[in-house]
Amino acid sequence: MNAPIVSVRNLSHRYSVQWAIKDINFELASNGIYGLLGANGAGKSTIMNIICGVVKQTDGEVIIRGINLADQPVNAKKHIGFLPQQAPLQKDLTVEEYLVHCARMRLMPEHTIKAAVTEVMEKTTITHFRKRLISNLSGGYQQRVGIAQAIIHKPDFVVLDEPTNGLDPNQILEVRALIKEIAQEHTVILSTHILQEVQALCDHIWMINEGNMIFSGTLEEFDNYIVPNKLVVAL
Ligand code: ATP
Repeated sequence: MNAPIVSVRNLSHRYSVQWAIKDINFELASNGIYGLLGANGAGKSTIMNIICGVVKQTDGEVIIRGINLADQPVNAKKHIGFLPQQAPLQKDLTVEEYLVHCARMRLMPEHTIKAAVTEVMEKTTITHFRKRLISNLSGGYQQRVGIAQAIIHKPDFVVLDEPTNGLDPNQILEVRALIKEIAQEHTVILSTHILQEVQALCDHIWMINEGNMIFSGTLEEFDNYIVPNKLVVAL
């Protein structure tokens, strides 16, 4: 049997003296869309940055396809695609130039890059903008480029930190539709502070409050969960 895609064990992190997350545990064993739901400051980005190897945790382990991220970061990161909250777009490049750059940063073999860029632009419906500077794209299309760079190396799972944040209602619907499409081929973990977003997209939900996981279950189970009153206003 294949190793779980991701196992997070007893994960805790503090920035100087303040604990941002405490004893977080979860396992991602199957495909689908997993949602990390929590109010601002709950600890979502901290968890995502640790899983993607951007922040080193204070305690606990992240195991990706059986590889301990702390021991073999390069091998483990091959399985991950990441769209951080502040997408690392180089806005003075065209879409195509930027994706070639990302493929090189991923150390993809040079002879595979052209085809991979073509394929990922088609998947994210940005081919018609390939010669356009990223700075001249709408927020929704910039987010498509961000998603394209996250899946260009065909990772097992894709981590999207607040992927619809700052978009207008139409762009939100379009980006959600794209996330559903990419979830046909990649397991997706996304974070959000918007209740309707997890309801619209996710098969499994983890709810985080002040660094603690307070709920883990399917969307159906979440429908029967009574969200604590103080959080209802924050979501
Ligand atoms: P948001 O939706 O606002 O990004 P979040 O759920 O992603 O919130 P985190 O960004 O993980 O939450 O922050 C969790 C806690 O850690 C917060 O109290 C935040 O102020 C703190 N924090 C996050 N990054 C740092 C940092 N670099 N230095 C110090 N404290 C930090």
